[in-house]
Amino acid sequence: MTQKTPPRLEVQHLIRDFAGRSVVSDVSFRINAGEVTCLLGPSGCGKSTTLRMIAGVDRQNSGRILLDGQVISDDSIHTQPEHRSIGLMFQDFALFPHLSVSQNVAFGLKIAKSERDQRVAELLDRVEMGRFAKAFPHELSGGEQQRVALARAIAPRPKVMLMDEPFSGLDNRLRDEIRDATLAILKEAGAAVLLVTHEPDEAMRMGDQIALMRKGKIVQGGAPYNIYNAPLDRQAAGFFSDINVVEGRVQGALIDTAFGAFLAPGKPDGSKVEIVFRPQHLKIDFDRSGSGPNPTPEHGTPARGIVERARFMGNESLVEFRMDFDGSTLRATVPAVFLPKVGTPLWLTIRRDRCFVFDA
Ligand code: ADP
Ligand code: MG
Repeated sequence: MTQKTPPRLEVQHLIRDFAGRSVVSDVSFRINAGEVTCLLGPSGCGKSTTLRMIAGVDRQNSGRILLDGQVISDDSIHTQPEHRSIGLMFQDFALFPHLSVSQNVAFGLKIAKSERDQRVAELLDRVEMGRFAKAFPHELSGGEQQRVALARAIAPRPKVMLMDEPFSGLDNRLRDEIRDATLAILKEAGAAVLLVTHEPDEAMRMGDQIALMRKGKIVQGGAPYNIYNAPLDRQAAGFFSDINVVEGRVQGALIDTAFGAFLAPGKPDGSKVEIVFRPQHLKIDFDRSGSGPNPTPEHGTPARGIVERARFMGNESLVEFRMDFDGSTLRATVPAVFLPKVGTPLWLTIRRDRCFVFDA
């Protein structure tokens, strides 16, 4: 019989309280070697605390942490951080200022000098910092320091890499480039990666899996595509983008709205629900905008709104409408070639296949 390989990293039912206040409440997940999981959630939800327990610099009140199926931390075992084969990269996990770039990378390598020199040279090449080998950290830009920190972290070939908001100190343009380069290097290194972030864009860009965290709990986990397109609730939907909400009441498994009827499978008659959708799924009905509404099965009934604000955003325009039917505001993002004047009446439809129906 073949035995199934255990995940590289597994945490089971982690619980951490500080002075009686629950900060991490029953967190469990697994990450395979070569996979990146992003722990995503708002500031203060317990992400860093979770990561610190896995690193071994903090200890859970209860729960277990396993590496390749071996317990490294539970009620009785607590493997010291330096013996966990875990690499760390934090935003403020600075390089040693008094050591050169190559000395920084060599720091954690407990191998013979010749082998070490070769490994350091290889790593610096890999992060395209070879020509800076003799430089000191203060001579480098933020992005360059970040590359060195990455080389240093992966130098001992850790089984797991823990990264806590590692890119938040970098400016926007540089950040995307470093993120992509880092991802490629981490994939190649084959470690299991846990990346903590409060930015949904970063989580979607970096993660094979996203674990969405809220108030100490993982409320939803899955591939970025699934988390984005099948959010658990209104809050989860709203964490990834602006959202529009149309309220309604269920009657015979349908919700009757100004945009026509929406399906509400499984929702009891009389219950209040919210139809939630993203701005890119509110469509301006250009064909009918001259002549008035003309229902279609695909898009339902168009509803009229008056342009209240229109903003050019480069790639797209953000248009806000005040809706005739109830005075509410709905937002649309449209290609930036289109920027309507404030006060223009337009007919709007909703991409029904992109709507989420939640209990109100
Ligand atoms: P995140 O990384 O998601 O922003 P943290 O895990 O850093 O959140 O913190 C979660 C909560 O736990 C915060 O309210 C924080 O103040 C609290 N906390 C974290 N570490 C400690 C500690 N050592 N002592 C007391 N409270 C702490
Ligand atoms: Mg944090």
